[in-house]
Amino acid sequence: MSSETTRDASRVTRYDYKMNKLLILTEKCCNTISPVSFLNGYLQEAGKKADEFAIDDITDFNELFALASDYEIIGLSSWGHDRREILDLLYNLRKNKKITVIGGPGVIEEHENFTHSVSGPGEYLLLDLLNGKKLPSFYKETKEPPYKFQLTDFSREKLPVMDNNISVSIRTFDGCYWGKCYFCTYNHNYSNRLKLLDERKASIISNTLDKIVKDIKEVKNNGEITFYMSHASINRKNLEYLLEAIKKSERNFKWVTFIRLEPWVMKYMRDIGSLKGILDIGYEFICNRDLVNKGCFPEDEIRLSLEAFKEHVPVKGNFLYCIPGAEEKDLIECAVNIARIRHCFSSFVLGQLFIEKETEFYRRRKDFHIICHDDIIDYGSSEYGNYMPHFEDYSGFRTLKDYSLFIENNKKFALSVAEIMETEIYSWEDPIDIEVKLPPVDKDKVYNIISKYFVDKDFIRKSIDNSWIYLRKNRDA
Ligand code: SF4
Repeated sequence: MSSETTRDASRVTRYDYKMNKLLILTEKCCNTISPVSFLNGYLQEAGKKADEFAIDDITDFNELFALASDYEIIGLSSWGHDRREILDLLYNLRKNKKITVIGGPGVIEEHENFTHSVSGPGEYLLLDLLNGKKLPSFYKETKEPPYKFQLTDFSREKLPVMDNNISVSIRTFDGCYWGKCYFCTYNHNYSNRLKLLDERKASIISNTLDKIVKDIKEVKNNGEITFYMSHASINRKNLEYLLEAIKKSERNFKWVTFIRLEPWVMKYMRDIGSLKGILDIGYEFICNRDLVNKGCFPEDEIRLSLEAFKEHVPVKGNFLYCIPGAEEKDLIECAVNIARIRHCFSSFVLGQLFIEKETEFYRRRKDFHIICHDDIIDYGSSEYGNYMPHFEDYSGFRTLKDYSLFIENNKKFALSVAEIMETEIYSWEDPIDIEVKLPPVDKDKVYNIISKYFVDKDFIRKSIDNSWIYLRKNRDA
């Protein structure tokens, strides 16, 4: 596929494509090597190949329909694709006797509007379809495809148009060894495969990292390459393998690993820092009650964040709010805890929690006093009945009890956190997603900010004083 076609969808013609049998629709990501490169790394062993079309805001769907009609199989990654016109496009392709496939994170059950839904890696299913095999409409894949990576022609062509910060998602170990957070679907379709790892894999990983870096450097001399590991939460043993792999490599890159802040991580922080690692951490919500069942203790999270700062490990901090059951005191505690470690973050994300199907929040919604308002979801009322069940509840939850108070408290929280992180938001519902480099903040400033929004001054004071004593102890230790 010509890289021109991905940059200007309005000029797409059918003849720009290599016309294999399989077309994968992805989301446009400028500086990321497409997951279709990985798929092709697998398919090419069997002499097959997929074409890719990256949908963006200016995609002409009539032209895309004409293009896609020339393929036998059209696949869609569920990630981010809840746009109605994309779903309608696939629906109509299926009506025209095309085989349509939906896969990717979030697919946990059969989708009636697609010929096949695949939960877990789609490589095997797609190869079988290309070989003309008859397959069930819902397919749950539990095996990991062979660990291989080769930059395809597509990604080599695309490299020159990327800027210097190129990110590559790399399949190291999938899954999450925790798998119990109430809001998370991850373990339903990418179940824990961490156990598949063995020691030999460290060498394979290091060779692969070096090979990819060399391939990219051949095309782009000054490219700065960051590898994102494909797992959701790494465990101790696999972190050791990963560090070993990176030590063996030429270390001409940065890398990001996703981790839960448990006490054992402390031992590895220095190595992570010296090997140019970056930690991507789902803190979710740090208060004394574990509202999402993250299974981490606030003081461990604080201590480890401070250690990361000390060892110059950049930390991407991800937080959630509007969590069912969150009360005023929880929100104050969380705002205080964010303030305690704000200087540790290299980037900071705060977003509202969305309840998805097959999560513990959804399954036990009565216990959590949640009601899901399907009418909030526009595409649920599509005349074609063409919507994705797992997106049904996006933004569609409300707590039954004390709804106004819940919203009011979360509003105060969002505004106070924005002020602590020294960023502006236009409405309390706006997500925050910023690069940061803030100095530590003193406790009087934190008190002034939080008490501007919340009325329980005594609790704010107590919460700050108690935690700042801990901070001092930690510093002195
Ligand atoms: S630690 Fe992360 S991936 Fe694992 S269950 Fe929790 S949110 Fe999901």
